[in-house]
Amino acid sequence: MTPGLVGSFGLFVLCTTLFCVFAASVLLQQADEGRQVERRAALHGAIEAIRTAGIDFSALPEQRVRDIARIAGLKDLRFETGPAAAGRELQPVLNAQGRIVGWFSWEPDRSLTNALGPLKPLMTAATVLLIAFAGFAIWQVRRVLRDLAVSERKAWTLAHEDVLTGLPNHRKMLESIDAALGARKAGETVTLALIDVDGMKDVNDAHGHRAGDDLLSAFAARLKENLPAGAVCGRFDGNEFAVLLRQTDAAQPAPAIENLVEALAKPYWVNGQAVQVGATAGFAQAPGDGASRDDMTRRTNLALGAAKRKRRNGVLRFDAAMDREFEERRFLERELKRALVNGDLDVHYQPIVRGGGAQIVGAEALLRWRHPTHGQISPAAFVAAAERGGLIGELGAFVLRRALTDARRWPDLYISVNLSPMQVRDPNLAGLVAGMLAETGTAPERLLLEVTEGVLIDDPDQAKERLDALRALGVRLALDDFGTGYSSMTYLQKFHFDKLKIDRGFVAPLGSPGHSPAVIQAIVALGRALDLTLLAEGVETEEQRVRLRLAGCEEMQGFLFAKPGPREALDRLLGQGRTVEADRPPQRAAG
Ligand code: C2E
Ligand code: MG
Ligand code: MG
Repeated sequence: MTPGLVGSFGLFVLCTTLFCVFAASVLLQQADEGRQVERRAALHGAIEAIRTAGIDFSALPEQRVRDIARIAGLKDLRFETGPAAAGRELQPVLNAQGRIVGWFSWEPDRSLTNALGPLKPLMTAATVLLIAFAGFAIWQVRRVLRDLAVSERKAWTLAHEDVLTGLPNHRKMLESIDAALGARKAGETVTLALIDVDGMKDVNDAHGHRAGDDLLSAFAARLKENLPAGAVCGRFDGNEFAVLLRQTDAAQPAPAIENLVEALAKPYWVNGQAVQVGATAGFAQAPGDGASRDDMTRRTNLALGAAKRKRRNGVLRFDAAMDREFEERRFLERELKRALVNGDLDVHYQPIVRGGGAQIVGAEALLRWRHPTHGQISPAAFVAAAERGGLIGELGAFVLRRALTDARRWPDLYISVNLSPMQVRDPNLAGLVAGMLAETGTAPERLLLEVTEGVLIDDPDQAKERLDALRALGVRLALDDFGTGYSSMTYLQKFHFDKLKIDRGFVAPLGSPGHSPAVIQAIVALGRALDLTLLAEGVETEEQRVRLRLAGCEEMQGFLFAKPGPREALDRLLGQGRTVEADRPPQRAAG
């Protein structure tokens, strides 16, 4: 309770008390006056009786006067022919001719009224104050009620409306989904679409977060403008907006959502600049794709995830295969945890050769997982599951420790270890690598770490920081799968790699009819210009080997030389002292 309220309450109690006293005194006074009238009437009766009896008032015996005083309830009643003492009540007595013969006088009896008399002004003031206070209190209560209604409205708005865009927020949209599903009649469908703003991070990075907020507001406004009739929309999450559409069975939601996405993907004008972001949508339709809110949101999310993986500005509807894929992903995450504990993971090594295959100079460590019931699972699948499930740190440390420990068997080889994008983002990566090098006593230059282009594009500055920290340890870096991503010259110049691993996609077509070796030659020339060692991946045929050698590619890796195998297999290969082929002068291949 605030001091103001306490004071007001105290004043109220005081005023109320005084008012009660005042009211009581008025009532008492009225009662006093009533009694006075009664007494006078009784005295009047006695006077009449005396007069009728013809008794002379001045000869009234004292006893008779006392009797009259007792009957009438008058104090100190006296009959006097002269003027009475001041302050006494008087009753004149007339004779038959109507002339005053004397006065009855007595002491007034208004003790309570008199006692309260001095308090009267105070009590009157209290009454006035009380009335004023009551008025003030009523005004205050009305004001508080009005404020309460305003803050209640505000609280409701905050709870249901997104502050930035003014659209219904996540909670309100969930309520709307519930309401729409609950009100759906036979022959009607309810479609939930989730639309993701692509490239928000770039906008924030390039133009600042204020501009990012402006863009989201503009996106929301355009979403509202282009909403199909009868649809509602809201902000579902950071960069995610929801659209809820009620239609008849016959109508198709896809065209409406595609039009919306098309409109949303057009450039925005933010802070006097044109800014381009994309929009990708996934949707699910009740009752076919689900009848409950949870099913609908989960499946719409799956459709959105699939759409985002597929292409920018695309729209995808949920289908049952997405549910299966989701279950598979969950299975992988769950089982991988178990595999790490049970020791079901292994590392295989694929030799890397020089001189067209004459000499093994290194080996790439490749993770292997043999599941007790599902058999071999591809690292491409479970590495992604490890990233999602938060296991990549553990998995990465496992491979690094094992590879560096095994590398002690092959002191003349360098050992190549793959890093997943999430590992590169880990600020403790350099610390982990340094720790492992020290633990296993490995010279840093024997370790080659492979990263893919995606890492560089997502957050180039952060990636540069991490990779520079690794270089500072003395380890070497390779750009893996070169040619599958953006293959940007800028990135090659900005990041200091030691090696470029040409993706299998460029190697496989080598030698096929009508295929020109110009691309490989260009990549090799580029690598040389940047002082990088070139390594071709996935070399499977003699023809590919020869063409790569002719193009000037120094290192190779592929099934032609050896498949990835356990460390004992590499031991055996090294025992042979060479790979499958002796080095022989390359034959000029046709083309
Ligand atoms: P990558 O790093 O590009 O590895 C080369 C992949 O090509 C390996 O597949 C290898 O078995 C395969 N390969 C090698 N030579 C040939 C060939 O001549 N023909 C064909 N068709 N394939 C060949 P794998 O072992 O299935 O690994 C797939 C990907 O999984 C790897 O691609 C790498 O990105 C990832 N990966 C494997 N092990 C690890 C790991 O320990 N950590 C991380 N982060 N990723 C890993
Ligand atoms: Mg690799
Ligand atoms: Mg590769």
